[in-house]
Amino acid sequence: ILELDNIYKDYIQGKMIVPVLKDITLHVEKGEYVAIMGPSGSGKSTLMNIIGCLDKPTKGSFLLDGVSLLNKRDNELAEIRLRSLGFVFQTFQLLPRQSAVENVALPLIYAGVSKRERIKMAEAALDRVGLSDRYHFKPNQLSGGQKQRVAIARAMVNNPKILLADEPTGALDSKSSAQVMELFEKLNEEGVTIIMITHDRNIAEHAKRIVDIFDGELSEHRDEEVAL
Ligand code: ATP
Ligand code: MG
Repeated sequence: ILELDNIYKDYIQGKMIVPVLKDITLHVEKGEYVAIMGPSGSGKSTLMNIIGCLDKPTKGSFLLDGVSLLNKRDNELAEIRLRSLGFVFQTFQLLPRQSAVENVALPLIYAGVSKRERIKMAEAALDRVGLSDRYHFKPNQLSGGQKQRVAIARAMVNNPKILLADEPTGALDSKSSAQVMELFEKLNEEGVTIIMITHDRNIAEHAKRIVDIFDGELSEHRDEEVAL
C-alpha cells in the first residue's frame, strides 16, 4: 500500500544543507501494523510528514497504492490526505469549543458530506472507539485517554487506507496508553493499516513489525541478544 524507495530529505539552514533522512526504503503492505522507533532528532516526524503528504522528499520515490506522489500539486495532496489518510498526534489537536461529535465530524465537512450524514458517521466512529456515552462532551470534559480516542475516531471517520500516528501515547499515562494500544490492535484486526511513530520501546512492541530509525537511517528491528 506504501512504497518509499531511496528517500532523502535535506533541510536548508541558512547556507548549510542539513541531511535529515538518508536513503530510506520502507515498504508497508495493506493490513500491516508498523512502528517506527528512534530517539529524539532521528528524523521520525520528518519521515511521518513525508508519508502523510505534508512535505516532499528531496529525492527518492514514493508510491501510495501504486500511484506516485512526487509530482502531485498541493491541492491534489490535500485531496489524498482527506481520502486516504487518518492522522493522530501526540497533543490530540481537538477544537476546544466543539463537542466530541463535532470534532469527529470535521473532516467530513471538507469531504462534502451532508450534516445529517456527518452526525451519523461521527457517532458510529465514536461507538467504534468506545465513547458512545460521550458524544456531547467538550474536550475539557474528557480525560486525556478519552481525548485521544476522540482524535482516533476523527482520524477513522472517513475510513482511511492508512492510520498515521505520531507519538500517540506521548501525552498519556500508562493506563490510557494501554487503552489506546488496545484500540489500535482492534482497528488493525479489523483491517486498518497502521504506521505509528514512537521513541518508546514498550509502545513499539504493540506493533507487529518494528523498524528502527537512527540518525536518519532506517533498519529492520533486531532484538539485540545481551551476552553476559
Ligand atoms: P522527536 O522525537 O524529538 O520528535 P524526531 O525524530 O521527530 O524527534 P525530527 O523532527 O524529524 O525528529 O527532526 C530530525 C532532524 O531534522 C533534527 O535534527 C531537526 O533539527 C531537523 N529539522 C527538523 N525540521 C527542520 C526544519 N524545518 N529545518 C531545519 N531542520 C529541521
Ligand atoms: Mg517528532
